[in-house]
Amino acid sequence: MQWETVIGLEIHAQLATQSKIFSGASTAFGAEPNTQACSVDLGLPGVLPVLNKGAVKMAVKFAHAIGAELSQRSIFARKNYFYPDLPKGYQISQYELPIVGEGQVDISLENGDSKTIGVTRAHLEEDAGKSLHEDFHGMTGIDLNRAGTPLLEIVSEPDMRSAKEAVAYARKIHQIVQYLGICDGNMQEGSFRCDANVSVRLKGEEKFGTRAELKNINSFRFLERAINFEVERQIDVIESGGEVVQETRLYDADKDETRSMRTKEEANDYRYFPDPDLLPVEFDQPFIDAVIADMPELPGDRCDRFEQEYGLKRADAEAVTASRAVADYFEEAAKIAGDGKLTANWVTVEVAGALNKDGLDIAESPVNAEMLGGMLVRIVDNTISGKIAKQVFEAMWQGEGDADAIIEKRGLKQITDTGAIEKVVDEVLAANPDQVANYRSAEEKKRGKMLGFFVGQVMKASQGKANPKQVNELLVKKLAE
Ligand code: ADP
Ligand code: MG
Repeated sequence: MQWETVIGLEIHAQLATQSKIFSGASTAFGAEPNTQACSVDLGLPGVLPVLNKGAVKMAVKFAHAIGAELSQRSIFARKNYFYPDLPKGYQISQYELPIVGEGQVDISLENGDSKTIGVTRAHLEEDAGKSLHEDFHGMTGIDLNRAGTPLLEIVSEPDMRSAKEAVAYARKIHQIVQYLGICDGNMQEGSFRCDANVSVRLKGEEKFGTRAELKNINSFRFLERAINFEVERQIDVIESGGEVVQETRLYDADKDETRSMRTKEEANDYRYFPDPDLLPVEFDQPFIDAVIADMPELPGDRCDRFEQEYGLKRADAEAVTASRAVADYFEEAAKIAGDGKLTANWVTVEVAGALNKDGLDIAESPVNAEMLGGMLVRIVDNTISGKIAKQVFEAMWQGEGDADAIIEKRGLKQITDTGAIEKVVDEVLAANPDQVANYRSAEEKKRGKMLGFFVGQVMKASQGKANPKQVNELLVKKLAE
């Protein structure tokens, strides 16, 4: 039988405000438990929440980035449930009138096509606290520092048809919120979380199957794995005569499986009602215009501009704009180097490779954009060859200073003095009379490969410092004599 997968994602992006969504408590990550939860975050009697304007501005930016409608009037509601990490008994969220309406994003598929994924809505809400299971035997600790942290919950249409598409969509949203500077995107720390709603149906059928909601997914890799596991499980259940039940399932990365956590609540279980302590959110066009005017360049626009301005191929432009941090790094280095293609090449190959090897993020790179640009200038002006540059880069990575200092200290300056190169060429030819004779008696088409031997010898004798182009030219000339 031919099955089709249907996926919709609910993404929670923690907004990068300094203080919480309804109080002045700090949102900084990693503080001592329960030192950053104030009386408003706890919902103690008599306190009143006040909406953080910064969070509203961030939602407006997001709406603009995905071409979504902004609600001129949106309302906060109380979502009532009890859980230890939510001692006040309700979460302030938005229900009937979310701040961001329908929008869409385009994703690139593996075959190079693109597909539009619908965003149903995005709403503002507060986060709950955290349960800590690890440090306490037979007990659970509760840390309420996260309570009241602003979240933007972004709900997609059930438009994705494979785990790969779901990952491409999640990455796209991740890229957008990071570019906008509204979320740090850190999945390990839980600043960017994805819940995947997954169902299967027979190909050609119109009605969606019953879905399961997968939680506890903290990387894109796990998102793909969790969905693939769940799809197989649901197909097995149906093919062996059973029925998929609507429920929330937890992904276990160690076992690579999903487990039932609880049956899914219906909206009416939550007894939503408008929060009587908060006014409706209303704003006018001048406010929206001011926020939009303050927006940074979006990834798609930046990619187009890099193609134009730096003469990059589409694939390279996409690679260096994948994240805002890499795009900033590339652009700073390219401006110094004066050669976009060369810079893109170094950023995507050498820098990316070295970061990957040391498990570092671009922000932690021992070679910053200015240092890379400074080294690339020396390739462009022929002070060093591309090959020697790799040595210089490695030395910069190890903290030996900037490119000019290393070139000076290690005497790596390229030899471009024709006389000096000629001397080495002559020595190499004199030392290898047999190869010279072979070359001269060989057919033209075989000579290219044989020339490589001499080039190698000359480069070796000059410790890689002779200008390779000049070496080639001189060798061809002398061997023809
Ligand atoms: P709830 O309020 O219970 O979370 P929603 O209707 O808001 O439910 O849907 C939540 C998410 O589930 C959305 O992203 C939506 O696209 C997705 N979804 C809804 N029905 C299905 C289905 N049958 N299969 C897969 N995803 C679905
Ligand atoms: Mg939901």
